[in-house]
Amino acid sequence: MTNLIDPFQRTITYLRLSVTDRCDFRCVYCMSENMQFLPKAELLTLEELDRLCSTFIRLGVEKLRITGGEPLVRKGIMSFFEGMGRHLESGALKELTLTTNGSQLERFAQPLFDAGVRRINISLDTLDEAKFAEITRWGRLPQVMRGIDAALAAGLRVKLNTVALKDFNEDELFTLAEFCAARDMDLTFIEVMPMGDIGNENRLMQYWDLSDLRDTLATRYTLHDLSERTGGPARYIQLEETGQKIGLITPMTHNFCESCNRVRITCTGEIYTCLGQEGKSDLRGPLRSSETDAPLEEAIRAAIGLKPKGHDFDYSRQTLGGQMSRHMSHTGG
Ligand code: SAM
Ligand code: SF4
Repeated sequence: MTNLIDPFQRTITYLRLSVTDRCDFRCVYCMSENMQFLPKAELLTLEELDRLCSTFIRLGVEKLRITGGEPLVRKGIMSFFEGMGRHLESGALKELTLTTNGSQLERFAQPLFDAGVRRINISLDTLDEAKFAEITRWGRLPQVMRGIDAALAAGLRVKLNTVALKDFNEDELFTLAEFCAARDMDLTFIEVMPMGDIGNENRLMQYWDLSDLRDTLATRYTLHDLSERTGGPARYIQLEETGQKIGLITPMTHNFCESCNRVRITCTGEIYTCLGQEGKSDLRGPLRSSETDAPLEEAIRAAIGLKPKGHDFDYSRQTLGGQMSRHMSHTGG
């Protein structure tokens, strides 16, 4: 069976799957306060999620990242993780991972490790309790801190993802770096992206250019650019004094599309082959139309055949060119 290769000769080995559009937080850059969530029947069932992922793995996907919404608020999601463990055991799947806000990790860190998860991304934008409540609206920092402790205690390798927001967490650059260094956690900053209608929260939504962030880091540390790439938008720099690696995700200002190896699927089974384009295909129909996976496989290949060359985000003008109408929680970031 041939692997998934797109029209630009990129082999697809990485699937990011959103398992719910719901979340226990309402981060200002991600959601509006009053989100309308999908009716349950629209969502892929846990069995369908398993069939879908198993098919992608059969077609050559080696890395699976589960996201959302908040993946750990989906009822029964641990049974899905446990099910994916069989693909890790067979060696077909090399990595099973997730991106989480950390709120449920106190409960789930150990079961995730037991299912074969070894590395996770936790999103955290500030170490200040009041600012945390402001940015997440519904989140509480001590709960996430307990989640981080539980993840480390379970033996999970943790990377923090921090959305870089000018006038919000600009002043926490060094404290965040030190917080991570003390726990042997990696740290990645993400430029805020123009996704979805999030209401009137622009005060906290100010774009902080990561080259500024880099310059600030350079006032205290000697920086080395690392050449390693993950096929995604992250670039890494290493701090000579501590050895710590810091990732910078700059989807707007740097072109990474030529090495893109990934596709995204929403919790309703829509496949997006590019984060920055509206183009999508439905996989739920083919999944539900037959007991066999043949129609699904055909639909997957057809979708990959339409993967665009690159995205159209553009911050170079005053307006947010290339603004996407969907929320990040829809495709999971
Ligand atoms: N709820 C989980 C979490 O927060 O980690 C997983 C889903 S969340 C949509 C995935 C990532 O997208 C998070 O790190 C979040 O900070 C990021 N994100 C959400 N909206 C964003 C935006 N407009 N620009 C940049 N990153 C965003
Ligand atoms: Fe929820 Fe994650 Fe979006 Fe925050 S970024 S509202 S935690 S899905």
